[in-house]
Formats: sequence, C-alpha cells, structure tokens
Amino acid sequence: MYRAPVADIGFVLHRLIGREALAGCEGFADYSEDLAATILTEAARFAETVLEPLNKTGDREGAHWSEAGVATAAGFKAAYRQFVEGGWPQLGASAQYGGQPVPQILSTSVQEIWASANLAFKLCPMLTHGAAHALALTGSAEQKQQYLPRMVSGEWTGTMVLTEPQAGSDLGLIRTRAAPEGDHYRLFGQKIFITWGEHDYTDNIIHMVLARIDGAPSGTRGISLFIVPKVLVSADGRLGERNDVRCVSLEHKLGIHASPTCVMAFGEKQGAIGDLVGEANRGLEYMFIMMNTARLAVGLEGYAVAERAYQQAAEWARNRVQGRTAAAGGASGTSTTAAIVNHPDVRRMLLSMRSSVEAMRALTLYAAHQLDLAGHHRDGARRAAAQARGDLLIPIAKGWCTELGIEIASTGIQVHGGMGYIEETGAAQFLRDVRITAIYEGTTGIQANDLIGRKIGRDGGAAMNALIDEMRSDLQALAGGNAGGGARVPAAASRKPEIALAVARAAIEGVELLSSATRSLLGLLSTDAAGAAAVAVPYLKLCGLTIAGWLMARAAAIASGEAGEADRELFAAKLASTHFYAEQVLPRALELARVVERGSTSVIDFEARWL
Ligand SMILES: Cc1cc2nc3c(=O)[nH]c(=O)nc-3n(C[C@H](O)[C@H](O)[C@H](O)COP(=O)(O)OP(=O)(O)OC[C@H]3O[C@@H](n4cnc5c(N)ncnc54)[C@H](O)[C@@H]3O)c2cc1C
Repeated sequence: MYRAPVADIGFVLHRLIGREALAGCEGFADYSEDLAATILTEAARFAETVLEPLNKTGDREGAHWSEAGVATAAGFKAAYRQFVEGGWPQLGASAQYGGQPVPQILSTSVQEIWASANLAFKLCPMLTHGAAHALALTGSAEQKQQYLPRMVSGEWTGTMVLTEPQAGSDLGLIRTRAAPEGDHYRLFGQKIFITWGEHDYTDNIIHMVLARIDGAPSGTRGISLFIVPKVLVSADGRLGERNDVRCVSLEHKLGIHASPTCVMAFGEKQGAIGDLVGEANRGLEYMFIMMNTARLAVGLEGYAVAERAYQQAAEWARNRVQGRTAAAGGASGTSTTAAIVNHPDVRRMLLSMRSSVEAMRALTLYAAHQLDLAGHHRDGARRAAAQARGDLLIPIAKGWCTELGIEIASTGIQVHGGMGYIEETGAAQFLRDVRITAIYEGTTGIQANDLIGRKIGRDGGAAMNALIDEMRSDLQALAGGNAGGGARVPAAASRKPEIALAVARAAIEGVELLSSATRSLLGLLSTDAAGAAAVAVPYLKLCGLTIAGWLMARAAAIASGEAGEADRELFAAKLASTHFYAEQVLPRALELARVVERGSTSVIDFEARWL
C-alpha cells in the first residue's frame, strides 16, 4: 500500500527551502505552508485511494488498440474523470486560461505523488501540461484562446510528437513534411513512441508536432512546430471533422503498460491539417524553451517510483521472517527467528533506498525552486542567477534521479529475495516502469552532453563554480570551520550535533571532489572533446551525488535542532538517514571523481571495430 510521503516533502518545502525563500517573487502571494499542506494532503488522498489501486491492474491489462481507437485499461477513464472534476489538471497552469498558479516546488511535489501511485496514469496530464506550456509560450493569441482553456481544464489532453524511426536523440533527422495550403499546412509522416497519442478519455487530443515545411533547410534549423488536433476545431471552439491523424498500433513494451505508446500516422489520406506555431523553422528552439520543466517532470519520476519501491520493500522486510539476527544470539541457535528487517544488510539496502530518495527529492525541489526564482523574482540579477543555476541543475536532476531510481527499484527486488523476481509482489513492476525514465525526454547520455557542453563548457564552468563556492562556504559554516576528514560518529540520539557535523564534513569532501573533477573536465573540454564526452555521465552522477550531499548536510543541521512534538520522529529519522547517506552513499563520489579525472583515454583508445 502506498502512503504519500507528505511529511518528508513538507520538510523539504518548508524547512530546507522555506516560504521566505520566495519572498522576492511576484505571483505567489497566496502561497503558504497551509495551502501547500492542504494540496499535498488532498493529492495524497486521491493518489492512495484512486490511482494506486489501478497501478497493478493497469500493468496487467494494458491499453487496447482497435481500428476504432485505443481503449484504456479498466478504471482509468473513470479515474481521469475524477482527476478532472477534482481540478487537478489546473494546478500549476496560468490563471489566464483557468489554471491555479502555484510555485513549481509545489506542483513538482504533487507530480511526485501521482508518479509514485501510478506512473502510467501520470504521463497523460504531464504531457498535456507540457503541450499547453509550449503553446502558452509560443502560440498566437487566437491559438491560445482556442486550445488552452480546454487543455488546462483537462477537457482535452495534449501530446508531444517528436520522435520518428530515424530521428530519436537526433531530431535534426525529422522527415515529417508540412505542405502549405492557404492559412494552414497539411502534414504527412509517421511518428513513433507517442505517449497517450490516442485514448478514450476525451473528445479531442491536441498534438504538438515537429515537422519540416517543404523547402526548409535540412537539420535542426528547418524544423517547425504545429498544432494538429485529432478533431478539427472551428474558430468559435466547436468540434468539426476528424483530422487525418490516426494511431496505427501500440508498442509492446517493458513497463508503463497502461500508458498507450502510439505509432501515429499523419496524412494517410489528404494530409493532417496543422496550424503553425510561432515562426517557421524555430520549432526545436521552442521545444527547448519548455525543456527545463519537462525534464524536471521526468527526473522526479525516478525517485517517485523509487519511493514506492522503498515503501513496499520496507513493508516486506517487516513481515518476512527468515534467519536469526546476530544481536538475538543467532550463533547459539537458541533465539527465535526474526523479520528480515532486523538483518543489518537488509537494513543497509532499505536505508540506501530511503536516503537516496530523500537526496533526490531535495535536489529536484531545489532545482524547481531555482525555476520559480528565475520566473518570478522582482530583481533581474537574482532572476538571471537563478536561471543559470536552474539550467545547470536540470540535466543533473533528470539524469541522476532516473539512473538512481532504476538502481533503487532493483534493490527493492533484492530485499524481496526470490519473491521480488515474481510478478505477484509488484516489485518487478517498479523496475520495469522506472526503466523508461532514463530514456525518454532525452537519454542520460544526452543529459550529460547538455551538462558538459551547454551548461559547463559554454560559460567556462562559471555557474558550476558559483555553486561549488556557495556549497563550500555553507558547509564550512555548518562544520564550524572544521572541514577535516569525516570522523565516524556513533548514531545515538544524544549525539545529534556530532552526527550533523559528520554529515557536513562528508559533504565537504564530496564538494572538493566535485571541484577537482570540474577542473579536470574543463581541461578536457578545451583539449579533448571526445575524452570529455567519455566521462560525461560519471561527471553528471558525481554532480547529483555531491550537490544532494550538500542539501542532505543542510537537512541534517535542521534535523539535529530542536523539534516540536509533531516533528520529533521526522527529525530523528531524517538525521539518521542523512548520516547513512554520508557514510554509505556519498563515498561513491571518490570513485566517480577518479573516473572523471583518469577514465577517458581507455574509452577513446578502444577501436569501435573491436566492440
Ligand atoms: C515508452 C516511450 C515513450 C515515449 N514517449 C515519447 C513521446 O511522447 N513523444 C516523443 O516524441 N517521443 C517519445 N519517446 C521517444 C524517446 O524520447 C526516445 O526513445 C529517446 O529520445 C531516445 O531516442 P531513440 O530511441 O531513437 O534512441 P537513440 O537516439 O538511437 O539512442 C540510442 C543510444 O545512443 C545514445 N546516443 C544517441 N546519440 C547520442 C549522442 N549524441 N551522444 C551520446 N550518446 C548518444 C543514447 O544515449 C542511447 O543510449 C518515447 C519512448 C518510449 C520508449
């Protein structure tokens, strides 16, 4: 059974980040701790009672294709109706189109809850939000008026239609044609892997399609963005004829079975009617404008599914009786058997799951906070600095959280033993579901290229070094100026300050490793671009691990302080979890830093023909 981690999310929102951090922002006057708590509690209730019960049945049944269209798994359509009636699609959308604007830290937190409960379900509203966001940023006033209110309300859903068989990571290879015809275009081409490209939820689906206008330049500079509705919409908003766009089949895939992944044919007959968005040939540029929010929305899926895997593994470990604990006198053979949660190794696995999820949540919400500041702060310099930091953190949040999410879901299976490998327990579904998160919305390799190229190389490491400096001085203050090695501290309630100190020291070690690895990477970037690319993913993981290490040290400092009655358990568990992160997770930074500093030549020297 899933229980939304409202307390830990609240800890990050209200303690680690804090309402006052948004003080200089315009547009969030109504945002308060109470409002956030109410929204999170309501989201938790909906997720636990409506979405989560459909997760396993949706996985087993999947979506159904027929000539008539796509039917969703039992219960999904009714759940979507309830989702719309509850006003959830509006959360985070502009008030101008009927939305309820809230800071991204809050909408990101709510999305985590949806993704934990039912990743397949979450994707449809997420893509609708992405499509609406793209339209809001780049569409004409008429286009916005025609489509946005009904997308924001959830009456219609939206898709992002980019991928073609020969054009995945490299969208410059897109071939779908757009032929001009009067005030619109006719599109011809096949798209693959389109999430929620067809379904039975709503009367209309608004596809945001990348295509090449006849005669446009080749490559990325010749791609335009079009609105292609499933059913044509008149200027006054009435639904007209079916457009020439059709789902020709569904992909058979590893996970997220209840999310229809569609092969879409545009223009099998006279051509699908499409409306150009913005200027011709700027489609990819427009996609990049909304990339940060989209990548954040996928990054969080990594820890959302990991959270669910952790909860189930912990429950299993509390109930599964096997072996004796060393403390209970296993050697003598006289003790009674014990639940496996008592075995230190099982506890290690569970703690690695839990502390990593908390670290990922902190990092992702910190990145979301930067986007809030970048979009809403009154001070232009503050906005620019937050934008640079947000841009830097997005590929890290996307790449690190999804890769680590996969690892954690796998650990969840290990905690279950053989039963984890058997579908009935559901542990395997989490691994199957989360596996896609490191692939779609740009693979980890593509995130790492973005990180070292656009985000580190282009400004000579300025944004990263600014972050490193801030983390260093912050942690030195937490460690009381005593930045020496991370002494081991026995975990005990009376040693709270020492534990927080040990976490800060371990985090400083991580930041210094990141600092020297960044210097090496910058050196490589200036002399050996291929060598830099060969260590880009390890560098990205090092960033995630150590930046989250800094946030965990801040969390430890807070949790070691005085707690009220309501927070006592939360603080105690948080401190223990940050301690584990410092002792058993952060040391991976050493391995990754070594790889960044010394690991590129072997990759480059190995001839492609030997592979
Ligand atoms: C379930 C599912 C849902 C999806 N939903 C959508 C959707 O709604 N809309 C949509 O448009 N698309 C969607 N996609 C497509 C998805 O975004 C692509 O699969 C993804 O971008 C990778 O492209 P590809 O599959 O062609 O892999 P490739 O681009 O062929 O990549 C293969 C491997 O090569 C690596 N690689 C490629 N280029 C580089 C490079 N320059 N540097 C380093 N490594 C590189 C990749 O990291 C990867 O490991 C979905 C895919 C799936 C499976």
